[in-house]
Amino acid sequence: MIYNNMGRALGDLEKIAEEIKTCKKCPLHNNRINAVPGEGNHSCGVMLIGEAPGFNEDLQGRPFVGAAGKLLDELMGDVGISRGMVYITNVVKCRPPGNRQPRDNEVKVCTSLYLDRQIAIINPKLIVCLGNISSKYIFNKYGLKFKNMSEVHGKIHRIISLHGELKIIATYHPAAILRNPKLIEEAKMDWKTIGEAIRSICKKTPQQ
Ligand code: URA
Ligand code: SF4
Repeated sequence: MIYNNMGRALGDLEKIAEEIKTCKKCPLHNNRINAVPGEGNHSCGVMLIGEAPGFNEDLQGRPFVGAAGKLLDELMGDVGISRGMVYITNVVKCRPPGNRQPRDNEVKVCTSLYLDRQIAIINPKLIVCLGNISSKYIFNKYGLKFKNMSEVHGKIHRIISLHGELKIIATYHPAAILRNPKLIEEAKMDWKTIGEAIRSICKKTPQQ
């Protein structure tokens, strides 16, 4: 039963990924080399959501494979979490020119077409928001107030839905830490909390 549900989820995620790869529904398709649908393990119900693909992600079609991705791997690795335990994606799936922030209309179109459906399929028990754009979108989606990262980072927000409890944790975007290395200590503290949350969720969830 669990296996069948997981198999169906995988198929549905793959179908969405195929749609994303050829999507032309917002202006960001004009400059992309590759769209970046997301990847990883959805069976634990842990999602890491970044902002948008950057230069290297656009080249490879995979999330967090550049410098920010390397730092993310280190932050996760330090608390015993591997990529294989989580599903990683972004708010928008195509790289904004020059790595500018995605615009409100691009976020609106792309999330309604893809991220919202990915979330509905995975039905996550934990969403980790990486950076402001992701936090703003996810907090707003679940009726939470996002003021600023310095206030909310590392705190566990609990949403009760028909499907059970969803935890939401915001933390600094790894690219923001690279720009402002002073943030690393706070980020490491956040990742202690995130690591514990992921471990307890993955322990309780039968693996695929
Ligand atoms: N920054 C993001 O927000 N996402 C990526 O995939 C890479 C860098
Ligand atoms: Fe489509 Fe999203 Fe890419 Fe825009 S950013 S073209 S909506 S996949």
